[in-house]
Amino acid sequence: MGMLIKNGNVVMVEDGKISKMDVLIDKGIIAEISPEINRNDVEVIDIEEKFLIPGLIDMHVHFRDPGYTHKEDIHSGSKAALAGGFTGVLMMPNTDPPPDNATVVYYWKEKSKNIPLNILFSGCITKGRAGKELSKLHELKEAGVVAITDDGNWVANGAVFRHAMEYAAALDLLVITHAEEPTIANRGVINEGYWSTVLGLRGIPKAAENVAIYRDIEIAKITGAKLHVAHLSTAEGVRLVAAAKKLGLKVTAEVTPYHLVLTDEALAGYDTNLKVNPPLREAEEQKALLKGLLEGVIDVIATDHAPHASYEKNVEFNDAPFGMEGLETAFPVLYTELVLTKKITLEKLLLKMTVNPAKILQLPKQGDIKKGNYANLTIIDPKLTLKVSEELLVGKSKNNPFLGKTLTGWPVMTIYQGIVAYQRLLKGVQ
Ligand SMILES: [Zn+2]
Repeated sequence: MGMLIKNGNVVMVEDGKISKMDVLIDKGIIAEISPEINRNDVEVIDIEEKFLIPGLIDMHVHFRDPGYTHKEDIHSGSKAALAGGFTGVLMMPNTDPPPDNATVVYYWKEKSKNIPLNILFSGCITKGRAGKELSKLHELKEAGVVAITDDGNWVANGAVFRHAMEYAAALDLLVITHAEEPTIANRGVINEGYWSTVLGLRGIPKAAENVAIYRDIEIAKITGAKLHVAHLSTAEGVRLVAAAKKLGLKVTAEVTPYHLVLTDEALAGYDTNLKVNPPLREAEEQKALLKGLLEGVIDVIATDHAPHASYEKNVEFNDAPFGMEGLETAFPVLYTELVLTKKITLEKLLLKMTVNPAKILQLPKQGDIKKGNYANLTIIDPKLTLKVSEELLVGKSKNNPFLGKTLTGWPVMTIYQGIVAYQRLLKGVQ
């Protein structure tokens, strides 16, 4: 049976328009968009001027499966994604065993086949993500990966990385780089600067990221491969990506919600939930990231959802693992901190979370509300204000830096190919 969604403020992202429309879904596809549609042979829902947006697409999630399923697994991670309004995610390869051959990809496919979410897979660039020997890239491509990355590790050996980029160009695979030169990062735990000195914590200089991005872009230049820079955190990184784009290179970049709304000052309380890699930087860098986002240098906002169990995070700062979970709160964080404060428009924010990732990942008929596209849709209640609590986080881990904060603009329904995949049940709210 079809579905008619009435009276939504429909965000057509690519056109940059928000208008009051009815949307008819038939067989999982958007069949009609029009100011008034009346049908009595389908399920009708009146969303009373809430926002109807394209399902969000996250290019950077860690579902920890196989190997670390005490932190998250494909099912729990998917639940978190759907609760956050996402209808598509790209899984990173930091698993045990890692996907350096097709076996793990087949396991992922089998485990995710009945989940109402477009789960995409990345493979490793090198065997065991160890940076020495190339993975079976042909085999991974055939198994269906859309990107390769050693996320968490930078491929420090230039010859190995160049060889991988040559294969990637031939196989039309996106190469995602976790840009951090390890000998410059030198076991740092937070950004090197005022706060690392005050807190007595080992610093990660911005140079570690900048040097790595520079090298990767140079290799993209000589190989012609598509390079995507994950989680940019520095102003110089933004400048390098802008310069690469100006040269016409196939270079794209992402930023996390956290690097856009938090700075290293937040670490004053030694909260290990704020320990993340790359680290939170100074306000100046944050400003450059937002500017890069607004000017189109940064194409995508990706969560880098990185769940860890509380016993792993409740340790000395130096011993805690890097990473924040955040699929459930990504949209309300950005809506509250950037849209309501008028730093970015809703249409532009969504460009970075729907249309652009769909283009970079080459996902046809996804990423926007258009006739003929898949009915992957999210309903946002722009008035709904909730305090972030552990109960609100539906994934396995609770290492969210916004616990206790009040945020506005929550997803209340996520529709995947015409099926209601998530609906928010509100206790005590009409
Ligand atoms: Zn990373």
